[in-house]
Amino acid sequence: MKVTEHLANAKETLFSIEILPPLKGESIQSLFNHLDPLMEFNPPFIDVTYHREEYVFKNRGNGLLEKKSIKKRPGTVGICAAIKNKYNIDTVPHIICGGFSKEETENALIDLNFLDIHNVLVIRGDAIKNEPSFVPEKGGHHYAGDLLKQVIQMNQGVYLDDDLQNATSTDFCPGVAGYPEKHFEAPNLKTDLRYLKEKVDLVAECIVTQMFFDNQKYFDFVGKCREMGITVPIIPGLKPITTLRQINILPRIFHIDLPEDLSEALQKCKDNTAAKEVGVEWAVQQSKELREFGVPCLHFYSMGKAEPVRKIAAALF
Ligand SMILES: Cc1cc2nc3c(=O)[nH]c(=O)nc-3n(C[C@H](O)[C@H](O)[C@H](O)COP(=O)(O)OP(=O)(O)OC[C@H]3O[C@@H](n4cnc5c(N)ncnc54)[C@H](O)[C@@H]3O)c2cc1C
Repeated sequence: MKVTEHLANAKETLFSIEILPPLKGESIQSLFNHLDPLMEFNPPFIDVTYHREEYVFKNRGNGLLEKKSIKKRPGTVGICAAIKNKYNIDTVPHIICGGFSKEETENALIDLNFLDIHNVLVIRGDAIKNEPSFVPEKGGHHYAGDLLKQVIQMNQGVYLDDDLQNATSTDFCPGVAGYPEKHFEAPNLKTDLRYLKEKVDLVAECIVTQMFFDNQKYFDFVGKCREMGITVPIIPGLKPITTLRQINILPRIFHIDLPEDLSEALQKCKDNTAAKEVGVEWAVQQSKELREFGVPCLHFYSMGKAEPVRKIAAALF
């Protein structure tokens, strides 16, 4: 089923998660071990992130460095198929512009369609480490909106090869990303929202937000989206803090703020165990308030750590 159908059919707030593919070399069982404890909360869909290549320099021992492209977390499409097969749960693979030509994107979408996977989260991806800004692949897409157009064309039976006759239309349900605290490259929230509206007008069917720790930012964001005529569901993304280092890492990587009350409570923690307790409790309180507000779904970024998400879900569902 499509994410939007799950949301429309829901009698109460849904629970969903986003997972990362395991690091290269790990088995799929490590992922199942992560998911098993969360299955009692019946997630109707699971998002699986996509991780593009990175460049590393390997010392070849003769004084020369060799530039190598590596993908640390491959397997998004295979993982989606494996989850569907094992748990009979819908999956939402993330598809990105970075590192993909239009042909490669088309081939990936054909694979997903053949696997009966019809939800996709359409995003741009970030710059590769060491590159100052995002550079699209040669013959690839610059913005998520451009990638979205390709998905929509395939939904209309239009593939890249003009000679194809009577090509099968796909039936993808595309979601896109939204940023309650603004995307870091956007000059201001209004401009960012204008581009978000463009994506929704192209037929993005739902929005999943970047993590946020202050619900007021989500409420304001939803209010501004509605004022602009964005009517699709806006799924809040939540991340339980699990370590003390995250006080600084999360704002740096995700360009979000931690409210003073939260950062002060974390700074008083002696170790990560105490920080995790604070993080879980904060996420529980955030979730309760969001549920009262009437959000369609609480979407948790598990980031390889199932236990904190399990505790939050146990307190809520
Ligand atoms: C829920 C969620 C899931 C994510 N999953 C992944 C993942 O699996 N893998 C991964 O690599 N990254 C992931 N990301 C990170 C994401 O790739 C980055 O935040 C990226 O920098 C922006 O992606 P986007 O789709 O929002 O980009 P876009 O919508 O393309 O926007 C990027 C920037 O360009 C601006 N912009 C948009 N359209 C235009 C236009 N037509 N002209 C000029 N400016 C424009 C926007 O305002 C914004 O500042 C995720 C983010 C979120 C919120």
